Amino acid sequence: MNKSKLQQELTSKIKPGIKPSDLKKQKKNSQFNQQLATPPDSPILKPVKTNNSPSPIVQDTIPLPQGRPNGRGVKDQIKDLQSALQKQHEVVITQQKKLTQSEERIKDLEEKLAQSVPKPSQVKPPEKPPQQTFSCSDCNQAKPHQELSRQFAHHSFCRSCSVKARKAAERQIQEQPIQFTCHTCEKNHHQVPTKMKLDQTLQEYLICSTCRPNVKEFNEADLITDELWQKYPYSSASEILEKEFGIKRRSE
Ligand SMILES: [Zn+2]
Ligand SMILES: [Zn+2]
Repeated sequence: MNKSKLQQELTSKIKPGIKPSDLKKQKKNSQFNQQLATPPDSPILKPVKTNNSPSPIVQDTIPLPQGRPNGRGVKDQIKDLQSALQKQHEVVITQQKKLTQSEERIKDLEEKLAQSVPKPSQVKPPEKPPQQTFSCSDCNQAKPHQELSRQFAHHSFCRSCSVKARKAAERQIQEQPIQFTCHTCEKNHHQVPTKMKLDQTLQEYLICSTCRPNVKEFNEADLITDELWQKYPYSSASEILEKEFGIKRRSE
């Protein structure tokens, strides 16, 4: 077995897990065929331990030393393996860095997201605008706030109750007994007078309760005689009253 043949054989036998020292031993023994079948683990070629299992990409980049052209020294082969391993290691380091960066970025984004999205406890449930109601002190009904008309002390009054109350107050004032001179009997009285129209002036006169049954309230329609109807054949009663007596009805 000459030198080149030995090298050829050695080259073909170089596989992961073989140390240079192993090869030297084998050279001396010249019975290395069986021993090579179970080579001891080489610390150099042990896979780089990482926290993450190597990705398929990483594994694919491992150059396989088998099947190389012959004629190169064992040291060169080992150098190749070592540089390949170094490259592999660098790839793993790079991948790890990228992974760490990605993890940091995810953490950052998660924090930003957590800040931008309000927590459920902070989100107020969409409340219906509270129906502003109040309880009317008069009718005791719950009324919308727009209906609030008057408010004093601890009392609130709705609009319709306020109107009723005002009318009642006016009526009470009207029905209040007053000092007056009766238009008919011309006597002084202290009582609630009756207001009556007595002539075509349509002025309201204060009449006492004694005279009240004997006084006929003026009715302008009574002014229109048959002659006037003939005089104004195409006019209405109010038109005749206005033309003949100057009486203007306030509302018709
Ligand atoms: Zn009310
Ligand atoms: Zn009188």
